[in-house]
Amino acid sequence: TVSLQGVGKVFGDQAVLEDVHLEVSAGSVTVLIGPSGAGKSTLLRLINHLERADQGFVTVGGQLVGYRREGDTLYELPEGEIRRRRADVGMVFQGFNLFPHLTALENIVEAPIAVRGLTRAHAEQQACDLLERIGLADKAHAYPRELSGGQQQRIAIARALALQPKVLLFDEPTSALDPELVAEVLSVIEELARSGTTLVIVTHELGFARRVADHVVMMDQGRVVEQGPPEVVFDRPRQPRTAEFLAKTL
Ligand code: ATP
Ligand code: MG
Repeated sequence: TVSLQGVGKVFGDQAVLEDVHLEVSAGSVTVLIGPSGAGKSTLLRLINHLERADQGFVTVGGQLVGYRREGDTLYELPEGEIRRRRADVGMVFQGFNLFPHLTALENIVEAPIAVRGLTRAHAEQQACDLLERIGLADKAHAYPRELSGGQQQRIAIARALALQPKVLLFDEPTSALDPELVAEVLSVIEELARSGTTLVIVTHELGFARRVADHVVMMDQGRVVEQGPPEVVFDRPRQPRTAEFLAKTL
């Protein structure tokens, strides 16, 4: 579903990503781990075309992200087309980023109506189903300020799902939460993982990562140090850098 081939990204004179290769298959869960500054967020942002790759190719569903190819030349797509394709890639951030002046339900129906052209009735039906699924059916008409951080983050997940993305990206979805609210958000993500939603997750919750991941990618200083199934990367890492990182993070 998502493919990165030889991807490089430079900020100023700093190489933030170098020669990154990654294949995310449909229905799989990929977890990115690694120290601060490794380039994990930048990698996610490339999949969404919030950043542009300086080298290599990023594709989602077989389509180049942000560009069309003619012969050997890449042309950046017009803004409208980028926005349409971006709707195929859902993203949930650390901060909950809900619209503060909209209720939970309105937050969820906004994009499906604006971007996918759903009728309000259809979008609201779908939103109610999603609220049910995340255990917040009774909060449809609450404003973000009336919800806990964990509830807001679950609404943010429902809002992303409402666009029926091909892949859902999570960037440290629980790191801004009080510890007692982490579990409710992780359990929603675990339910998505079990139901076959394609996920790419940056997290420091290694216990959770081991439970849900099909594929683990260890990054450091812009490079993929190693990648493989969780039994290998967590239990028998091949690279000393991975072992050292895991020991520190436990
Ligand atoms: P963390 O765990 O702290 O979130 P990360 O692995 O997500 O780290 P990134 O946010 O991808 O790391 O950043 C990788 C490197 O790129 C860092 O050195 C960062 O300072 C740099 N960087 C990120 N965004 C920009 C930007 N817009 N301009 C310049 N440098 C940037
Ligand atoms: Mg980050």
